[in-house]
Amino acid sequence: MIPIARSSALRAVRSQLSQRRSLSPTSAAALARLLSTLAVLEQRDGKLASSSLAAIVAAQKLGGPVTAFVAGKGVKSTSAAEAAKIQGLEKVVAVENEAYEKGLPENFAPLLVENIKQGEYTHIIAGHSAFGKSLLPRVAALLDVQQVSDITAIESEDTFVRPIYAGNAVLTVQSSDPIKVITVRGTAFQGVETEGGSATVVDGTDPNTPCPTEWVSEELAKSERPDLGTASRVVSGGRGLKSKEEFDRLILPLADTLGAAIGASRAAVDSGFADNSLQVGQTGKNVAPQLYLAAGISGAIQHLAGMKDSKVIAAINKDPDAPIFQIADVGLVGDLFEKVPELTEKLKKQ
Ligand SMILES: Cc1cc2nc3c(=O)[nH]c(=O)nc-3n(C[C@H](O)[C@H](O)[C@H](O)COP(=O)(O)OP(=O)(O)OC[C@H]3O[C@@H](n4cnc5c(N)ncnc54)[C@H](O)[C@@H]3O)c2cc1C
Repeated sequence: MIPIARSSALRAVRSQLSQRRSLSPTSAAALARLLSTLAVLEQRDGKLASSSLAAIVAAQKLGGPVTAFVAGKGVKSTSAAEAAKIQGLEKVVAVENEAYEKGLPENFAPLLVENIKQGEYTHIIAGHSAFGKSLLPRVAALLDVQQVSDITAIESEDTFVRPIYAGNAVLTVQSSDPIKVITVRGTAFQGVETEGGSATVVDGTDPNTPCPTEWVSEELAKSERPDLGTASRVVSGGRGLKSKEEFDRLILPLADTLGAAIGASRAAVDSGFADNSLQVGQTGKNVAPQLYLAAGISGAIQHLAGMKDSKVIAAINKDPDAPIFQIADVGLVGDLFEKVPELTEKLKKQ
C-alpha cells in the first residue's frame, strides 16, 4: 500500500493536473514539473534492449523530469552509462547486483518498488516486452494500483490509449490511481536520441530480496540478419510459400537484397516454414518498419494486428480479394513463385 501522506500529496497533484487543459501554457508547464516518471530499462549483457527505449520516449511525452532505472551485474559502467547518454533523461538510477542480471520478476519487482518509493515517482513506464509484461503487474500489485498495459498513445497524464481485440478496437482509459504503472507498445513510441545526453548515474536502493526462482538457462535464436523488432524493412512469408524449402529459396534472397529482417505468418510458423521467433501478429511480434512486404499472406486480423502500423505495406498474393490488399499501399496480384524471384532480380540490378 502507498503511505497515506504520499497518497494525499499525489491526490493534490492529480487534482491540479486535472485542471491542466484550462491552464495557461506557463501554468501547464509548471504543473508538468510535478510529474516525475521512472522509465524502467531492460538490459542484456550490459546492453540496453531497444524495446525498453520506448519507455523513455513515452515518459518524455508525459512531460516532467524523467529518471531511468537499470539493474544487473556491473551496470554502472555499461547499460547505465549507455542510458546516461540518452537525451532528455535527468538521472539514471543503477543497482549493481548479479541477482538482477536476468530480470527475474520475483526479486526485480520488490527492488523496483523500493526505488519507486524512494524517488516518489508519479508514473512508472516499461516496454511491453516479456520483461515488462512479467515485471510490471507484480509492481502494480505491490503498489496496490492497476496497471495500464500496452498503450499506443498518451492523451494526458492520466489518460491513455490502448488497442484491444487484436487492434480492432481502440480503448481510451483514464486512471485515477496515485501512481500510474504503464507498459508501452514499442512501435508507437520511437525516435529516442541515444547520444548527446548527460544524465547523472546514481546508486539505487537494493533491498536484497531473496529470489525463490533460479534462472537456469536460455536458448536464443541467433541471426546475422536485422532484428525483426527494430528493422526498417521486413519481408514476411505466409502459407502461400507451401514449404520450408520454398520459404528459404524465395524469401531469404529477397530479404537479403533489401537488407530486411524476415517475418512470417503464424500459419507459416505452425507449418514449420520459419522459426517461432519470426512470427508477426497478435501472438507474435509487433513491427512497424518503413517497409513491410508480405508474400503469400492472406491478411487475417491477427496478422494485421502485428504489422498494420508499418509505414509502407506491400503485398504479393494470387487472390485479388485477399484482405491484405485492403491495407496494402502497393499490391501485386500474381503467383509468388514467379513474382518474388522476378522482384529479387530487378532489385539486385538497381
Ligand atoms: C488467437 C489467435 C491468434 C493468432 N495469432 C496470429 C499471429 O500472431 N500471427 C498470424 O500471422 N496469425 C495469427 N493467427 C492465425 C490467423 O488467424 C491466420 O490463420 C494466419 O495469419 C494465416 O496465415 P497465412 O496468411 O500465411 O495463411 P492463409 O490464410 O492460408 O493465406 C495464404 C495466402 O497465400 C496466398 N497464396 C497461396 N498460394 C499463393 C501463390 N502461389 N502466390 C501468391 N499467393 C498465394 C493465398 O491466396 C492466401 O491469401 C492467430 C489466430 C488466432 C485464433
